[in-house]
Amino acid sequence: MSRTKENPKQDRQYGVMIKRYLLPEWRPLVWLGVLLLSSIALQLVNPQIIRYFIDTAQGQGSLTPLYYAGGLFIAFSLIQQGVSVAASYFSENLGWKTTNKLRVDLAAHCLSLDMSFHKKHTSGSLIERVDGDVNALAQFFSSFMINLAGNGLLTLGILVLLFRENIWIGIVMAVFVVGSMWAIQRIRQFAVPIWTRWRQVNAEYYGFIGEQLEGTEDTRANGAVGFAMSRFYELTRRMLPMRVRAFLGYFLMWSTTILVFALGNAAAFIVCAFLWKRGELTIGSAYLVFYYTELLAKPIEKIRTQLEDLQKADASLVRIGELLATRSAVQDGPGASLPRGPATVDLRGVTFAYEDDGPATLRDVNLTLESGRTLGLLGRTGSGKTTIARLLLRFYDPQQGAVLLSGTDIRSFKLSELRSQVAMVTQNIEILAGTVRDNLTLLDDRIPDSRILEVISDLGLDAWFAGLPDGLDTHLSSGGAGLSAGEGQLLAFARVFLTDPRLVILDEASSRLDPLTESRIEAAVDRLLNNRTCIIIAHRLATIQRADDIAILEQGQVVEHGKRAQLAEDPASRFNRMLAVGMEEVLV
Ligand code: ATP
Ligand code: MG
Repeated sequence: MSRTKENPKQDRQYGVMIKRYLLPEWRPLVWLGVLLLSSIALQLVNPQIIRYFIDTAQGQGSLTPLYYAGGLFIAFSLIQQGVSVAASYFSENLGWKTTNKLRVDLAAHCLSLDMSFHKKHTSGSLIERVDGDVNALAQFFSSFMINLAGNGLLTLGILVLLFRENIWIGIVMAVFVVGSMWAIQRIRQFAVPIWTRWRQVNAEYYGFIGEQLEGTEDTRANGAVGFAMSRFYELTRRMLPMRVRAFLGYFLMWSTTILVFALGNAAAFIVCAFLWKRGELTIGSAYLVFYYTELLAKPIEKIRTQLEDLQKADASLVRIGELLATRSAVQDGPGASLPRGPATVDLRGVTFAYEDDGPATLRDVNLTLESGRTLGLLGRTGSGKTTIARLLLRFYDPQQGAVLLSGTDIRSFKLSELRSQVAMVTQNIEILAGTVRDNLTLLDDRIPDSRILEVISDLGLDAWFAGLPDGLDTHLSSGGAGLSAGEGQLLAFARVFLTDPRLVILDEASSRLDPLTESRIEAAVDRLLNNRTCIIIAHRLATIQRADDIAILEQGQVVEHGKRAQLAEDPASRFNRMLAVGMEEVLV
């Protein structure tokens, strides 16, 4: 009744998951099983003591056995509570241990996927996979099987004991168990869809708020507050009736459950009264039956929620399986080594489109850069400059042609090899929440502080560094709040220096910086270019003066390429015109 379609592939996936994540934790699993079985046994024993107590008390004999029975009852109750606590501990522990492993695997997998995957999937949906879906599975791992089996056994045990009391009581209660499960399941079919819709609109609501909070600055600056608020009102207006209906449904489900169990109690009473009148049942036994009927409510409820969890786990498992099965379009090569010294770069007939069936962003690009030289890459916005940089780092592979680094196709390298040799300083620097040290070394603790300080000093950042309250331990918040764009760039330069790559790509920020930062950056760039091959995506003439070679891109094609000095002297060149009338006039 829980799984809408039996899917053999999905069952195999459960198998894989259980083998990979649950079985290595067999020890707590065994403990959990033992604890749950003891808990069931204890729950079944206690009513027997009560029955003994009641029947003995009615017999007007000595009080001693009553004291024993009372003491025993208390002892068993205490042990049962202890067992429950221990079982919760093991099940929670097991759930988190197993799913943390899965979380790590998923996060690592997401990080290894190529950029086109990440462009297609919002961070929100990935968080939902790595956290939300895994949480749903945690239920499954920690308790599902043991709980389902445990509650099944408890129900069965109660029924067996009731049959032992009297066959009629057994039959009536067995009918009750089946009937109540059916009734609760039926009412659920009304309530659950409403509840699901409520959760959807709730997710939308949080998504909206998150998006708005992130964009507060833009919203206010552009006077879009009214628009944002009207969307907010519209959302809340949609939410209210759904919330009311969802809770009505929930209440309905809850009250039916109570009603069903009340009917069960009534049935037990009627049968007991009838049998008692005929002298076939003692008062103690009547109480026992009543107690067991009450006890039945728990496993019936539990089995229902367990089946619900299974449904959730089903959906999550499918999504997680899909994610894990996604192969990165960019795969590690067999591995290759580079000759020492600055790299050379060759783009041979590179044609590239972001979408396989979309328009080509780069068309038949040929570009050569000799070892140790600096290429100034120019072109109007959207001409494909950053795209070339992404291809050099293999965030994407070109559909046609090849990218060569020191004569080796970059698809031959392992990605980690390539990315330790090629560094990029982008237009947007990603600052992580953490200390300045963490941000510079990216948590590579093999880099000693002395080396970091050396780089900071080499880059002419002493003055800036002296201004930091806690030196390398100064905390930076994520997104780089508290850092200017220029400071962010300088930090990024320092990162590059610490990895000491053979090719540096500098995607210059197109925004203007203040003169002081600008002069610092100029100095830092000078140092950066020293004894390295470099591609500068330049937006300012000052930067271009550093380049040995110039390439101009137009709509994904190289329209001019040559030595800077020669191009500057050639009156027919675009570059010459650019120097005469300014970069912006020629490019835009
Ligand atoms: P700018 O000077 O503004 O930084 P650019 O020359 O660096 O521009 P690119 O970022 O390389 O330009 O973009 C080239 C083209 O590719 C643009 O038309 C852009 O719309 C498109 N493009 C860039 N990134 C993506 C992406 N992730 N998915 C799809 N298309 C993209
Ligand atoms: Mg760009």
